Amino acid sequence: MAVKKYQTHHGMHDLLPDEIATWQKLESIIHDVADRHHFKEIRTPILEPTELIARGIGQLTDIVSKEMFSFERGEDQYVLRPEGTAPVARAYVQHSLHQRGGSQKLFYIGPFFRAERPQKGRQRQFHQFGAELIGSPDPMADIEIISFMMDIYNEIGLTDTSLKLNSVGNPESRKQYKEALQDYFRPHLNEMSEISQNRFETNPMRILDSKEKEDQPIIENAPKIADYLTPESQAHFDKVQRYLDQLGIPYELDSRLVRGLDYYTETAFELISDQIGSQDALGGGGRYDLLIEEVGGPSTPAVGFACGIERLLLAAEAANLQLGTSAPLDVYIVTRGEKAREWALNNLSTFRSKRLRTTMNFDGKSMKAQMKDADRNAARYCVIVGDDELETDRFTLRDMSSSEEQPYTFEDLIHTVANSK
Ligand code: AMP
Repeated sequence: MAVKKYQTHHGMHDLLPDEIATWQKLESIIHDVADRHHFKEIRTPILEPTELIARGIGQLTDIVSKEMFSFERGEDQYVLRPEGTAPVARAYVQHSLHQRGGSQKLFYIGPFFRAERPQKGRQRQFHQFGAELIGSPDPMADIEIISFMMDIYNEIGLTDTSLKLNSVGNPESRKQYKEALQDYFRPHLNEMSEISQNRFETNPMRILDSKEKEDQPIIENAPKIADYLTPESQAHFDKVQRYLDQLGIPYELDSRLVRGLDYYTETAFELISDQIGSQDALGGGGRYDLLIEEVGGPSTPAVGFACGIERLLLAAEAANLQLGTSAPLDVYIVTRGEKAREWALNNLSTFRSKRLRTTMNFDGKSMKAQMKDADRNAARYCVIVGDDELETDRFTLRDMSSSEEQPYTFEDLIHTVANSK
């Protein structure tokens, strides 16, 4: 009976060795840019309490209402984290990071999970990098977050993006705006999509997010939040725009940008690429002055962003950007006979201690097959070893790009290869 072959779940992917160099390069760029901006890495658990995520993101969001991977164990309810901000907010409160004085500048990279319908640029396990600046209400903090995000894309060379900007105001602006939206949508409700009808009572701002065709002409003429901002919110938003202008960071105002999550206040932004298909948001973020209190901490203003790594890589591919290449193998030891194999096993470390990437054949194949294997692994050199070589201390070094072969004593050979890097 044939044994069943297992596959990853739909929307969850293995990262195979050929892709890893790209991921590692991207991660090292993120670490590098973070270092220059003085953001410190934080790593939180993959599993969080379900209640934290429900409170932190909002019961009415798609994420909480239908996209969570959650389970119970004993008394505890776990959820695979769907995003990074609520976990970082929890860590901030749990470890009383506010007592350390000043703002905290934190960043993270890692896997996240949402039970969405998979398609291009949308997976059930995906990866994000993101940052949070917690403790400052100043629009300058918004700018520090946006410029950190933009610098990562600039460093990669992904400049063909557009930054959309809006303000969702403070709770007072939003209250008035929500009422104005409801007054506007009410007479049109019958013509609108079911999703929008459902959002009408609970979260009318999210109707602006609708992708449904029948909603578009109605949304087109909906009131704009810009007309409902309180003077404080307007002043905050004006400063954000002025600072962006001063820094030469281009942006477009987008009054429909409301973002899916409930804890956002004031500045909202999204980074878009028109090169990656319908899932065109590379990342987004904004201010969330209400979240820390919502998850049990002191009232603390904060601003952050989160970006998808898979979508960034799709955009990099579309722009023909090569992010990383795997480092070449320096030495492949080709052996003839069992004694030579044992010698190779004992001497791998001699090469490796000189920081040379070195391997040998582990399946006892013929010399021809070993040479082929060396070629396949793009080795720079082969060292050819048999009984004669061991007796006479004359090893053949084959330069794989020129196919030239030269005899060396072992000591000279190591020296030559180590100096050729
Ligand atoms: P969000 O937390 O929904 O604001 O998402 C921030 C970014 O993460 C998005 O702009 C995407 O780039 C990425 N992202 C969100 N959900 C997914 C998903 N299911 N698959 C791949 N990337 C995602």
